[in-house]
Amino acid sequence: MANSIDDKDLLETVRSGNLERLDAHEILTWAIKNYGSRMALSCSFGGMTGQVLIDMAYRINRKTRVLVLDTGRLPQETYELIDRVRDRYDMQVEVLVPETESLELFVRQHGMNSFYESVENRKECCNLRKVEPLNRALAKLDAWVSGLRRDQGETRTDLRKVEIDNAHGGIVKVNPLIDWTQEQVDDYIKEFNVPVNRLHNKGYPSVGCAPCSRAIGPGDDVRAGRWWWEDPDTKECGIHVGEQFDGSGI
Ligand code: SF4
Repeated sequence: MANSIDDKDLLETVRSGNLERLDAHEILTWAIKNYGSRMALSCSFGGMTGQVLIDMAYRINRKTRVLVLDTGRLPQETYELIDRVRDRYDMQVEVLVPETESLELFVRQHGMNSFYESVENRKECCNLRKVEPLNRALAKLDAWVSGLRRDQGETRTDLRKVEIDNAHGGIVKVNPLIDWTQEQVDDYIKEFNVPVNRLHNKGYPSVGCAPCSRAIGPGDDVRAGRWWWEDPDTKECGIHVGEQFDGSGI
């Protein structure tokens, strides 16, 4: 965990607020330089920002660690993209899987598709398949990088470029693309020929688990195809919920 003398200096830098003025490449360079293998990029392989970050990180340091949560319910297009990224960047993507015993018990008690029946079931499924495996991985890290953008939905408007992630033991969470627009993301992908999920071409701006993602229509919110049967204010999987500014001036 981030408790050495050096890390205290880093945390002071985070708290100073100066990092908020850096652009995406500068933020990512700062994070990779300071945290190295004690940091990983968490990528769903179902959104374009994660793919941009993999490409950007690869150009800064080819050894940047990349994590993906294999929930067991991902669409084939996502698995296919993981392998394309492995080949393109010659990197070992670290695949995180759910803890078997608790997932088996949940499915036995509630059925295969209980996420459609209640928000509670949906959140517990996300908890077992996503939150818990990620928590296990983050417990061994001092920092992590996400591809969140403020304009991706009502639940993400207050996010900052660098935060103290109190929901994950007070490690540092880096959101380099937080103020990017979809146009900037599209331009980067085109310029560097970044591999992306093939479902984006079929109307999916955001791809999660197969049973919980669908294509959207013209004018829909970009996250309208995720857990479309729920109210917008419940639509997070739990991974990015609960992080709080620690009050020290980031
Ligand atoms: S997105 Fe759906 S299938 Fe995937 S973990 Fe959450 S509830 Fe379960």
